[in-house]
Amino acid sequence: MDFIPEETSQAVSIPHIQARKPEGAVASEVYREALQGQFRHQLALSPEVLHLMKIHAEATYPNECCGVFFGKEGQVREIHLMQALENSHQSQQQKRFEISATDYMKAERFALENGLDLLGVYHSHPDHLAIPSVHDQQQALPFFSYIILSVINGKTDHIRSWRLDDEGVFDEEQISIY
Ligand SMILES: [Zn+2]
Repeated sequence: MDFIPEETSQAVSIPHIQARKPEGAVASEVYREALQGQFRHQLALSPEVLHLMKIHAEATYPNECCGVFFGKEGQVREIHLMQALENSHQSQQQKRFEISATDYMKAERFALENGLDLLGVYHSHPDHLAIPSVHDQQQALPFFSYIILSVINGKTDHIRSWRLDDEGVFDEEQISIY
């Protein structure tokens, strides 16, 4: 994959996971990986945003971190800014994250006040691949991009992004660094 910035200087190959459920179980699908580079949506991250997300994800390890990001909507979503938020999940922060309604509202207001779009949510998967869980799917909102950072043994291993399609299934997005 070519979206890992060179500062990590590791061309991380993403393990190929069999995402599909058996025939006939389409309704319960959680995500669709891009096949042969066919992405329906694209994200462009500033190097600084990516760097800050990684720092956050590694600092909260082995718990999940979470936050939001802002930028400009377009054919390619450009992400200029991120805000680290508190994981407000009460009991299972190693496996779950939750963003409080207040934090969402503040993020919306910040976007409005700064002429930016609130484009999505990032969170980390400690010692797990950057693929959405059923829980992630259940919590997800339409429109938002969901960036997931896989943090293995405290270090960011890879990052992927997902967006719900009309059927509520996560479609993988292409990430580039601008
Ligand atoms: Zn998750």
